[in-house]
Amino acid sequence: MSTLNSTQTTLIKDLISFDTTSIHSNLTLITHVANQLDDLGAKITLNHNKGKTKANLLATIGPADTAGGIILSGHTDTVPVTGQDWRTNPYEVTEENGKIFARGSVDMKGFCGLALAQFIETAKTQSRLLHKPLSLLLTYDEEVGCFGAKNLIHQYGAVLPKPELVLIGEPTSLKANIAHKGIRCFNVHVKGHGCHSSNPDAGISAIEHSHQFIGLLYQLREEFRQSGVSDTRFSPSFSTINVATVNGGSAINVVPDECVFSFETRTIPGDTGDYLVHKMKRCFEQAISATGAKLKVNLDEYVTTFPFAGDEHHSGSQFLISLLDDKEVVVAPFCTEASAFQENGWNTIVCGPGSIEQAHQPNEFITIQQLERGANLIERVTQRCLTAG
Ligand SMILES: [Zn+2]
Repeated sequence: MSTLNSTQTTLIKDLISFDTTSIHSNLTLITHVANQLDDLGAKITLNHNKGKTKANLLATIGPADTAGGIILSGHTDTVPVTGQDWRTNPYEVTEENGKIFARGSVDMKGFCGLALAQFIETAKTQSRLLHKPLSLLLTYDEEVGCFGAKNLIHQYGAVLPKPELVLIGEPTSLKANIAHKGIRCFNVHVKGHGCHSSNPDAGISAIEHSHQFIGLLYQLREEFRQSGVSDTRFSPSFSTINVATVNGGSAINVVPDECVFSFETRTIPGDTGDYLVHKMKRCFEQAISATGAKLKVNLDEYVTTFPFAGDEHHSGSQFLISLLDDKEVVVAPFCTEASAFQENGWNTIVCGPGSIEQAHQPNEFITIQQLERGANLIERVTQRCLTAG
């Protein structure tokens, strides 16, 4: 990592060395970062999950109670390497042909390391010159539902001063991403009544009812395509539905008493997904009542991330865009923590080094050139906190 400085290089390597796959704790990484910030005069808040196995870290320098600051935000968790064909150790940085290979290199420990390095540098050399707070936010569980960011907003969203800009450094090849779709994921557990298949009328088929519910999902999918909320910045321009898994039944001669299926919807800004949920619940109620309440249906929503609709005309957004080589504002084809922040009134942009195409892949990499450009952007963004007004 030749032209990055040694702090940047070391911190990126350090962060990558922790296996923070979402199923694991991130606390050793968080403790390591907190130790780096010791004696720098930063205000540090650790915000744990319920089981105290994971934490968000929010570190702030400058006038912490003042609005209008900058938050550099990244997630600490990574996707698994299981079943992927890696040429190198995924938890060790390997540099080759102007790229560094490692799990999390592009998504998104590269950015987190650079942000941490800049935060330390500013704390050491310019802390007293800060007119507005500069914060570093490292979150947990982004990859599995943005639970860390949601917990932070739940606990602190109302009390923390509003920043002018939250910069989420997800890999966007350093383009400003101002919106993305939301995602809501559901499991549906349908419990009927089993019996011998020779007399099906004596039972209640869980599969038959699931078939009816899934049929409605496909009907809604077409409705969204034909006449739903449309936003042509996205491809496809409408909210989508995917029925992902179906499991049910036990034997060929038994009317199935159980069926479980899962589905997700990816919603366009302006569509919360509530319409779909309402329609499904109505359908369940009708089916339950038609069986004299013998049918049981349980709808479990396990991921709720609303669409992100940022404001490219906000002063913080305009400032960020002014720093970019490529000033085209785009929408992201993936979900981030941005909607959790934006909904809390924190102006947010998703923009970071590296390409999303390398994320989640075996032999994930980021180019050193993108890291250098990312470091430069982060440095210029933080300078915003040095200006009064
Ligand atoms: Zn990510």
